[in-house]
This record gives sequence, structure tokens and C-alpha cells, in this order.
Amino acid sequence: MTALNEGLGMAGSWYAATAHPWDRTPVLSGEEAADLVVVGGGCTGLAAALFAAKAGRSVILLEGGRIGWGASGRNGGQIIPGLRKGAVELVDMLGRERAKALFELSLDARKVVTGLIAEYGVDCDLTLTGHLLGAVKRDDMADFEAEAECLDHVMGYPHVRLLDAADARAAVATPEFRGALIDEMGGHLHPLNYTLGLARACRSLGVRIFEGSEALALDKTPAGVTVLTTGGRVRAAHAVLAGDALLRGLSAQVNRRIMPVANYQVVTEPLKDPEMLIAQNRAVSDSRFVVDYFRLTADGRLLFGGGERYTPDPPRDMAGFVRPYLERAFPQLAGVPLTHAWGGLVSVTLSRLPHIGRDGAVLYAHGYSGQGVILSSLAGKLMASALEGDAAPLERFADVAPPPFPGGRALSRPLYMLGMAWYAMRDRLG
Ligand SMILES: Cc1cc2nc3c(=O)[nH]c(=O)nc-3n(C[C@H](O)[C@H](O)[C@H](O)COP(=O)(O)OP(=O)(O)OC[C@H]3O[C@@H](n4cnc5c(N)ncnc54)[C@H](O)[C@@H]3O)c2cc1C
Repeated sequence: MTALNEGLGMAGSWYAATAHPWDRTPVLSGEEAADLVVVGGGCTGLAAALFAAKAGRSVILLEGGRIGWGASGRNGGQIIPGLRKGAVELVDMLGRERAKALFELSLDARKVVTGLIAEYGVDCDLTLTGHLLGAVKRDDMADFEAEAECLDHVMGYPHVRLLDAADARAAVATPEFRGALIDEMGGHLHPLNYTLGLARACRSLGVRIFEGSEALALDKTPAGVTVLTTGGRVRAAHAVLAGDALLRGLSAQVNRRIMPVANYQVVTEPLKDPEMLIAQNRAVSDSRFVVDYFRLTADGRLLFGGGERYTPDPPRDMAGFVRPYLERAFPQLAGVPLTHAWGGLVSVTLSRLPHIGRDGAVLYAHGYSGQGVILSSLAGKLMASALEGDAAPLERFADVAPPPFPGGRALSRPLYMLGMAWYAMRDRLG
């Protein structure tokens, strides 16, 4: 399979360099049958497989490349409670009651992830020290105030608080922040080790995993579905589509709602006093439309992601591409050696809400819009629960399905890139 994210340097990532061992699985060959076939070996697919297996179903999981080498194993690892769409916007869009119900459901994601880590002893540097959102634009603090107020009084979520400029700069040693919003329930983890931990848990529950087995076609049958790979075929009563940005042509209805956007990350060499950069080891991102996000690693490096790029081709020098953004945030790190650089594809939707739902025997979840580290595991669980007859939580997301991107396949990308460039220009105007 020539994955869309091939050439984005996963093999050279700090995550691959620090991954726990994983025994590669066989490639699917011949005919197999199961209750459920899952397409995609990231956190969405693995969580769906895990919870379905727990409920007693036989499960086959097909991964076109390697387990965890999609977004799930190469992201920023930031645990950010809630949805990519903020509380104020959610209430404007859905009204108080529906917004609160959806927000509360999204909060289960953190419990699902911490629960799985505890239950299966997943060693993934879980750090629950909070998430800090830095204000870099003039009007941000007024927006943050409204957001904190809405979270507390409408959503019943009392875990966020505002920092003024002095406190924000004491928390993060960047000259950029005019203030900040801290969510004490945030944090970070090593995403590849979390994903591989889920895969190991799946195996222990009897899930049959086939790597190097791209699903090429999915046909609905009276008995359910048939999924075809180059080497074989799986018959199942149900399918879960969990390919996110990498799913390509397998489902037109799913593909039309997401746009893959490339994003790049680096890590520095281990720093002498990492806590001088980020106090209390929090996860940090800023308020730009094209977000800068960063955190410390367990071995004392700065892991930094960000930068604007509107062409699908990766920059030839990924470290050189990210460096100016890192040095804008931390001028004191000018010239710091960058030991690893890699990229990945984030799938975004028009509404920034994920696309989760069901079409008969086929369930799908994707499009977390940059906030899928924990939402993906929740979505996997919701799909597995729907198979057991508890479909109401899944329906809550299905009710707010993001609209398709306008313009069909040929037009949607240029239009989207134009939109990105417009918002990025607004970022620069402050
Ligand atoms: C660079 C980057 C940084 C990010 N940072 C953060 C962050 O800090 N915090 C946060 O909350 N979110 C972040 N995200 C988003 C988050 O990583 C994703 O939302 C989440 O990992 C999606 O998980 P998934 O399992 O749905 O998809 P993936 O992890 O992408 O898994 C999909 C899998 O399906 C496989 N596949 C696709 N098509 C087929 C097929 N036809 N047959 C077989 N297999 C197939 C792929 O090979 C892949 O392994 C980031 C994403 C990126 C790319």
C-alpha cells in the first residue's frame, strides 16, 4: 500500500525511536470470516476492535500499513478534553441542551483512555498535568473569558481557569503569550506506545490483526459485508471504517467530509532545564488557526509541531521547515539541535466536529480535526456499543454530522487551501 503519509518520515520520528517492541503480524491471505471486520489500525479501529472483542464478538482488523503508523502513532500526544469546536460555538450551533449533551459525551474520552491504560497496563508516559492554551492574538483573552464562563456555567465543567500575561509567561517561557486558558484535565502521552498498547490488548482478547493488508473494496451483502484485500477476503456481519485521513476511495460518503492537512513536528536534543521552558510539564498549544503545539517528552526534550504549508508535498527539510516556528515561540532555543523530524496528515471537517455514524452494517468514525488523541478511543467504543444495541451515544454524534466539502474531489482541496491561507493571514494580523 502506498499510504498517503508515506514520505512523511515516520521511521525517523522520535516516537519510532522510542517505541516498545511490537511483533509484526501476518498479511491476510485467503478467505476469513468474523462478526466484525475493522479497517484501520489506529486508535479508532483498535478501540472498536477491543470493545467488540470484550463484548464477545470475533473480530478481524485489517491495517494497510503498520499498526500505529497513521496519525495515532505520530501525533503531538496532547490530551485535550472536549471537542475541537469550542463550548461557546457549540452552544451557538446547537442550543444549550444539545451542546451540553454532546460536550458531556466527549468528556468520556479521557475516562476511556485512562481506563484502558490502567486495565491493560499500557506503558505510554501518561502525564495528566493539564493543557494550556496560549493567547497570541489581541482579542483572545476576551474570547477565553467567554469560553471559561460557558464551560463553567453552561457545560458544568469547572476545570478551566484564566492566566494573565505575567502568569502565562511564568507557565511557558515564551514572549508570545498575552494570557492563557488552562484546562486541568488535559495532559499528554506517548501516542505510538499508547496505540501499540491497544493493539497488544486486542491480541490478548483474540482479535486477529493483519498488517500490510489494505482493504481495496467493501461490498454490502445480504449477510453483512465483504472486504477485499490484495491477498484475501473477509466476510463479516459488520464493518468499522477507521482509516481517517488515509482511507482514500474505500467510501465516497465518508471521504467527502474530511480534508487531510499535512502537519510537521520536531524534537530537540534533551535539554538541560526543560522545566524552565514549560512549568509543571503541561501540554501547550496556541490560539492560531494553524496551531503551534508543544510539550516536553519523558526524556526532557521539547516536542514541537506547527507551521503553515498549503501544498500537499512535504518540505524537503522538515526540521528546517518547523525550526522558525519553534524559534518564534522560544527565541532562547535559537540554533538548538533538532534530532528528529516527521510529518502526518490531520483530517479536518468543515464544522470541526467529528464524523461518526452508521450506514446499515457499516460504522465509521473520523475527522477529529486535530483533537483525536483521546476522541478516537471514545469513537471506537461508541461504535462497538452501537453493535451491542446501545446506539444512542453514536446517534448523538451522527445528528451533528459535518457537511461534505463543497466542490467535489477536484475542487474541494484548492478551495480549502484558500480558506486556510485566509485564516492564517488573520493569525498574522493578530
Ligand atoms: C501531526 C499530527 C499531530 C496531531 N496532534 C494531535 C494532538 O496533539 N492531540 C490530539 O488530540 N490530536 C492530534 N492529532 C490528531 C490525531 O492524531 C488523530 O485524530 C487520530 O490519531 C486519528 O486516529 P484514527 O485511528 O482515526 O486514524 P489513524 O491513526 O490515522 O489510523 C488509520 C489507519 O487506517 C489505515 N488505513 C487507511 N485506509 C486503509 C485501508 N483501506 N485498508 C487498511 N488500512 C487502512 C491507515 O494505514 C492507518 O494506520 C494529530 C494528528 C497529526 C497527523
